[in-house]
Amino acid sequence: MKKIFCIGELLIDFVAENQGSDLRKASVFTKKAGGAPANVACAISKLGGSSKFIGCIGDDPFGNFLEHILIENNVDTKHLQKTDTFTTLAFVSIAENGERDFVFSRGADRELKYLSKIKSEFKGNMLHLGAATALLGGPLESAYGHYFFDGLTERAFISFDPNFRQDLWKRREDAFAKKCIPFIEKSHLCKFSLEEAQLLSGKEDLTEACDVLHNLGTEAIVITLGKEGTYLSTGTRHGIIPSIAVEAVDTTGAGDAFIGCLLYLLSALEDPSVVMGNFEFLMEMVRKANAAGALTTTQFGAIPSLPNQDELKAALR
Ligand code: ADP
Repeated sequence: MKKIFCIGELLIDFVAENQGSDLRKASVFTKKAGGAPANVACAISKLGGSSKFIGCIGDDPFGNFLEHILIENNVDTKHLQKTDTFTTLAFVSIAENGERDFVFSRGADRELKYLSKIKSEFKGNMLHLGAATALLGGPLESAYGHYFFDGLTERAFISFDPNFRQDLWKRREDAFAKKCIPFIEKSHLCKFSLEEAQLLSGKEDLTEACDVLHNLGTEAIVITLGKEGTYLSTGTRHGIIPSIAVEAVDTTGAGDAFIGCLLYLLSALEDPSVVMGNFEFLMEMVRKANAAGALTTTQFGAIPSLPNQDELKAALR
């Protein structure tokens, strides 16, 4: 089984209780572990795969809380870096008008250093890059680019998720799209939401969007569509793979559970890159990954609701 290195941010989400008030009025917040690549690492390990997280937290109680969550979920934390800068915090509330009110207190996640000694570990393994905060500048952006380059030179399998956050790129969406291009060009697999596929391709229509994105270089594309399932495109073939029916209560982390499960299934193959053009083969894996995404919506919170192997098997019966 291949190791999967998940690279990007790990942070605290402070979610306002009593939704309907903006951050000025909100007075009670719940502390939650956040960071898509960290969720993906947990999703992989919870299913029995081998995941390692590369990111940076503060040497403070919030950082310790996050580190423990990774350890509890069997994620290898050998490459988790700690710094004196405070752990990154995001505060979020949904105001009365349905608008998200968001304050981002960027700290330790941007301090990730590039360590050249990790490169040799990438050989024959897999990298998953989540770009929610990685392209916002600082040492992280440079380290992220170097790790990506090392993955390519070591011929690792590369998966990319732009994790576009409107709150972080307001009026700079084009800059975000430009920064994603090298990753789309060189990744074997890209996971997008519908909004991301449209933003990054400049096309509304999914087939046209995939044509643009394949032309950039990526071999396989999965576009997650919530309860509708997932649009899979291998360039020559495409189609929607339906999900299972569930009673959804909180969709946070569904996309991370989905890509985590897909990468876990791919990690069992001798060479995952050879199946990127095989629609039938990927379709079966996407069907299982859809169920992992669906199960994550049935409970509150991202990491606590990620399925284990038994739960996934039961849902697919
Ligand atoms: P993202 O977090 O990337 O927006 P989605 O919310 O689209 O991800 O969910 C990821 C996957 O999980 C979907 O492609 C789908 O297969 C599954 N999923 C999500 N929500 C539901 C739902 N309400 N019912 C069934 N499956 C769902």
